[in-house]
This record gives sequence, structure tokens and C-alpha cells, in this order.
Amino acid sequence: MAENTTLEERPPSSVAILESLERIYKDLPMEAIVKQDILRQGIHFLPESFLGVGNYKAKDYFIFSFDHIPLADLKDGADTKAPEEIKISGGHFGLLKTVISTRNNPHSPYKMKSKEGVPTLYLEETEIGQAEYPPIPSWYRHKTKSGKLPGEIAPVIEWGYLIYLTVFRNCQYFGKDEECAYCDINHNYRQQKGAGRPYTGVKDVEDILEVMSWIAAEDEIAKVYTITGGSVLTSLKKKSEVDFYLQYPQAIESAFPNRWMGKLVAQAFEKEDCQKFKDSGIAIYHPNYEVWDKNLFEKICPGKASFIGWDNWIRRVVDSAEVFGPSHVIPNFVGGVELSEPYGFKTVKEAIDSTKQGLDFFMSKGIVPRFTAWCPEPFTTLGQQAGPPLVYFCELLRAWKETFETYQLPTPPGYGDPGPGKAVFSVSAFMDVIGYSGRN
Ligand code: SF4
Repeated sequence: MAENTTLEERPPSSVAILESLERIYKDLPMEAIVKQDILRQGIHFLPESFLGVGNYKAKDYFIFSFDHIPLADLKDGADTKAPEEIKISGGHFGLLKTVISTRNNPHSPYKMKSKEGVPTLYLEETEIGQAEYPPIPSWYRHKTKSGKLPGEIAPVIEWGYLIYLTVFRNCQYFGKDEECAYCDINHNYRQQKGAGRPYTGVKDVEDILEVMSWIAAEDEIAKVYTITGGSVLTSLKKKSEVDFYLQYPQAIESAFPNRWMGKLVAQAFEKEDCQKFKDSGIAIYHPNYEVWDKNLFEKICPGKASFIGWDNWIRRVVDSAEVFGPSHVIPNFVGGVELSEPYGFKTVKEAIDSTKQGLDFFMSKGIVPRFTAWCPEPFTTLGQQAGPPLVYFCELLRAWKETFETYQLPTPPGYGDPGPGKAVFSVSAFMDVIGYSGRN
């Protein structure tokens, strides 16, 4: 990748490339390969693709922007009408139903058009699949006593499976010297407010309980909730980071014991603090290590590196398995960010060798890392870069699957059913490859 590449210069996609990878990566389902390419490139929604599809759930911007250009530059209705996710099937590769998160990119080679009134995804002139957009949950029609909308307080993603509670929509790691270089949480907060949208910075426990009461009464699809938000370095609302985040699962589990599986995405805490979350009812812990290579962690996650440090972070992830059980510690890494300019590896092989070391380290202990596909968002420190080629994501999925199978690990809990045609995790294909036995 050359320096100063822009999103127009992203490594290309074509049907010929997909067909060649289909022949090379026979151990990966085509659903996973196509999904990673669409996540990598984003989607250009043509205005016609929003017509005649009835009501559907649009993007709630539940934490980051996950768009390739600023909200203010999105045209033709994509800023308000793009669906949260798409579910594509059929097309040139005969895909089973595949759920993919929407990342708006008007420069993407993947174009969502309308074919006889049905949204249909194209690459070049080739049909990649017919698309469905996610339904709006019935409880989205309510409003809280404080006047807030459910999609703002407790949006659902993963086709309704996961209630995503970003309770703090900023991060106290602030500015280039502290923010993780791929993260636009603070910038997204500003752009949502700038667009005049309701976008609550710190969510009230009462608002969340009110929305959760409607979900408990009306919803059969949501099975899991995630509590997350930015890091707290000093205090927030006069609470420490642990006490701030702890109040939410405590309130939810008191009001609705074991109604859903609770997950926490937060910094890596010491065991005593992990125990508090476990005692509150949290079942799954995601202390995200973001990038395995220690030098890159220091460059890409400067705040985490200076306040906690890579060695401490990794030790805490391992220690937390004593509290939650190894299978219930699922740290995330940002797939592809280890190839970012200017500090990242220069070749796919070096990147995969490094990331595979991390997978082996954790999986040998029964801890299963998962990944999200890096989206080079414009307002981040890393900015609009070319990003990795598709072959990187194929190699990553292969490395993840091989390591997972070597250690004979159980399917990560809290993600729904695995495998092509069933997986609902929408920001990478790690769940789509589980159990796939290959093709000839
Ligand atoms: S810790 Fe890093 S990834 Fe998490 S919200 Fe803060 S800046 Fe973003």
C-alpha cells in the first residue's frame, strides 16, 4: 500500500477476484469471503434501493459511525435511510442468507440497486444477491417518559439478536495522543450532535430499564445485551469506571433476572473488579486487546498503552478467565489494523503471522478472541486509508478457523447459531466459518 492512499484507491474488488479466491480458499464458505469484501469496501446505496421496501430499521449509529465518509457528506438519503444491516442471498455465488453490517461508502464497487422492486446488490454488472433489510422491532414505537426513542437508548443489531447499550458515547482517552487510532467514538458523537440528532452522551439507568421493560414484554428475538462505552479515566457522574459501568447490569438483572445474557465490553480490569461484574450477572467479558503486536498496540492504542500497558492488558485478559471461565472471555481485535499506515506491517504475511500468534496464545488457554473488520473512518487518527486487500481477510479467517479447530473449542456463547446461512454477527465473518467442512 502506498502512503497517502485514499478510499478511492482501496485494493479493488471484482467478480474475477472473488472467483479466484473461491478456488483458493475452499475451506472458507463463499458467504464469509463475500461478507468480508463488502465490509472492507462498504456499500453504495442508490436512492432506488430505499423505495418500495416498506418499513425497515435504519442505522442507529449505535457506537461508532462505521461509515467510510462523514455523515454530512452522505447524499441521496444514505445518511438517514441506509439499513442497519443487509441480509443477502442467491446471486452469482448462490449465497445462503448472510447478514452484513452497513458501512456507507458512495465510492464502493458494491452498489445496492433495485431490481423489480427488490433491493439487489451488484458488483460490476453481476448480481451478488437479493437483499432484505432488518425489521423494526414493535417496541421501537414507544417513547420513554423522558422523551427518548428506543433506537437511541437500546438499539438492536445482529438482526434483532443483540441489544446494544452504549451507555457512555464518548471516551476519556481524548485526542491523537490517547484515542485508539482507528476509533471514531468521540468524533461520531460530535457529528451526530452536529446533524441535530438526539444522541444521549450518558444514558440514564431509568431510560434503559423502561426500554428493557418493553423488550421483555414484546420481544422474542433479542437474546443478549451488551453494556459498553468509552473508557473512564477519572470519574463519570462521580463514579469510578467500574462503578459507573456496574450500575447498568445491576439494575437490569435486578429488574429482569436472567431474561437475557449480559455482556460487557470494557477495559481489561483486575480480577477483583471482574468479579463484581460477574456477581452483577454479566456472563461474557470482552476486554478488547485490539491488536496483538506490542509495538503496534503502543502506537495504535496510545491511551491504553500508557494507562494500562500491553503486558498488564494481556495478563488481565488471561486472569479474567478465572472469573468468567475461559469460554466466556471473548476479547476483540480490529482485523486489518495491523496493516495500517504508517506503523503497520508491510505485508499480509507478517500481519497474519503476528495476529496468529495472538490467536494461538489465547486459544491455547481456551479464550476465543473474535474480530471486527477494520473500517477506515475519516475522522480517526488513521483516517481514510486504503485498508487491507481481501486476501488478508481470507488468510485471517483461515488462521482463526484453523486455530479454533486445533484446540477443539466450543462455539463462542452469545452470538447465536454459527455457520453459513445462520450467523448473525454482522461486522466480521468469524461466526460464518464455524463448522464449515469445505468444498471441492
Ligand atoms: S478505548 Fe479506544 S476503542 Fe475504546 S472507545 Fe476509547 S478510543 Fe475508542
